[in-house]
Amino acid sequence: MRRLWRNSLISKVFLSYLAVVTLLFTSFYLYSSTVVRDFYVSSLGERLELEARLLAKAVPSLSDNREFDVLCRNLASELGVRITMIDGDGRVSCDSVEPSATMENHRSRPEVLQAYETGSGSSFRYSMTTGEELFYRAFLQNEGGSQRIVRLAIPLNEVRDMTDSLRRNLFLGFLVASGVGLLLAFAFSRRFSSRVKRLVEFSQQVAHGIFPQNFFVKSGQDEIHRLELHLNEMSENIRENVRQVVAEKEKANSILRCMMEGVLVIDPKGRVLVINEQAQKMFNLAHDTDIRGASILELSRHPEMKKIIEQVLVFDFTSERYSRQVELHEGRWFRVNAVSLRNTQSGSFGSILVFHDITEVKQLERMRSDFVANVSHELRTPLTAIRGYAETLLRNPPNDPADAQYFLGIIEKHSERLSRLTEDLLTLSDLESGKVQLDFKPLDSARVIQSVLEMFWDQANKKGIKLESVVEPELPRVSGDFDRLQQLFINLVDNAVKYTPTNGTVTVTVQRTRINGNAGGVEVSVSDTGPGIPEKDIPRLTERFYRVDKARSRDIGGTGLGLAIVKHIAQAHQADLKIESILQKGTTIRVLLRQ
Ligand code: ADP
Repeated sequence: MRRLWRNSLISKVFLSYLAVVTLLFTSFYLYSSTVVRDFYVSSLGERLELEARLLAKAVPSLSDNREFDVLCRNLASELGVRITMIDGDGRVSCDSVEPSATMENHRSRPEVLQAYETGSGSSFRYSMTTGEELFYRAFLQNEGGSQRIVRLAIPLNEVRDMTDSLRRNLFLGFLVASGVGLLLAFAFSRRFSSRVKRLVEFSQQVAHGIFPQNFFVKSGQDEIHRLELHLNEMSENIRENVRQVVAEKEKANSILRCMMEGVLVIDPKGRVLVINEQAQKMFNLAHDTDIRGASILELSRHPEMKKIIEQVLVFDFTSERYSRQVELHEGRWFRVNAVSLRNTQSGSFGSILVFHDITEVKQLERMRSDFVANVSHELRTPLTAIRGYAETLLRNPPNDPADAQYFLGIIEKHSERLSRLTEDLLTLSDLESGKVQLDFKPLDSARVIQSVLEMFWDQANKKGIKLESVVEPELPRVSGDFDRLQQLFINLVDNAVKYTPTNGTVTVTVQRTRINGNAGGVEVSVSDTGPGIPEKDIPRLTERFYRVDKARSRDIGGTGLGLAIVKHIAQAHQADLKIESILQKGTTIRVLLRQ
């Protein structure tokens, strides 16, 4: 508490004022002691001289010393002074204290000597006659050629008492004035200090990033009030500026957050200035960790990424943009574009890197090149066979017509395969490019299935396969394109008949179902008792040219495109496709058609 008081502004102002008052008071007191005394003595001297002059005029010299002494004594008691009259030769002619006849010659007394010389004289000294300190004042009277000194004296004690009382009064007056002054100083310091405290409170709030509104209310007309008004205004301006900066920052942040691309801004030493969520994911960093200020080279574990950042930091990419493709974790591909950031004042202040996810583009590229390779491969086999047998027939025609027949049979088989392949490829390309406009109509799904089954009775019979259908009566109509749905089920039944061995069964079931909780859907399932499909292959069956057993598929005339076509037709009908299979037991493929 004491320390608080010692450090407070009010104590400093008040104590300095107190010090000034004390100093003034002391110097005034010391100065006044001599001035008051001198002033008193000078006015006393003047008074004594005036009285001496009057006495000189009014009192004639008497020849009888004793009578003259009595007159002096009476006059002295009236005036309250000691009266001495001295002749021109220094002899005392009368004295109010001692009989003049007994007194020694006074010519050598300093005040008397001075009066003989200058007309008047004064001195302070001890009187042997009265036995006390006296203040003497002597006046030289020149009359009719004779000289006479009239000397008046007053005890110094009286002078001291007078000056002391004067000083005391002065002291009291000054004390009262200083006390009132100090009280006023205290009140002023308190008010001043409370206003300064408000200023301190204000600056503390500003230091903590709070910019108060109308913090100072009207408190006067002085400079502090003007300062307060300016601070109010300043706080308001800063609040507005901060609000605008925050709004801008939020805008920039939400843009960065919504961007599909990863954005990373680094300073020339590779420290992170800005990073958005996408980029944090790419660097495998939890999105709630704040890594601003950290070195991206230390955070990045991927060697390729490190290399890119090092290159971006070393070279200047102001006029020319840096661009590279890089494969990061889990086969994900990114195109990294970078430019150096410059401003007119400080030159380069970092670089911005933008990461575009090009995984899908890469996958498409791969699929396209795989497709071209697959098509070439699929075409080459039958073409080589056709060409080989045709050449043999031309150059070395067999003698035996049965052999020629055999060769022609092979040529026919491969030609059929070629035409199936080109047909499937065309269908697929039409479906993928959206060239074919589907003609959606309410269809009787049982009729579609019936038309498909009719095409396979013979084939199934020949192979010794039981082809069955189970159709629920009064099925709801479904929305679809008759030809395309027919094609879809042809492919499914064809596969089932193709891959099911002799004595197996292929069953097509058509029944009502609920789709997403709504009645009105129809489920068509094609089940067989064939070899089944390994679980790991099921997700890839609808890829173009994907086969579980390549040789077997080719042998039995498969193109590897059947299920890809099924998938596309199902998608065009928004129909779900489910493949279930158990090895050595059989396969069931379900298609859920909508109303
Ligand atoms: P493919 O013309 O070779 O039959 P698909 O696209 O129709 O081509 O079928 C892809 C692969 O899925 C086939 O090669 C075959 O290995 C497998 N597959 C399709 N249906 C069946 C089925 N019912 N039973 C067993 N395997 C099947």
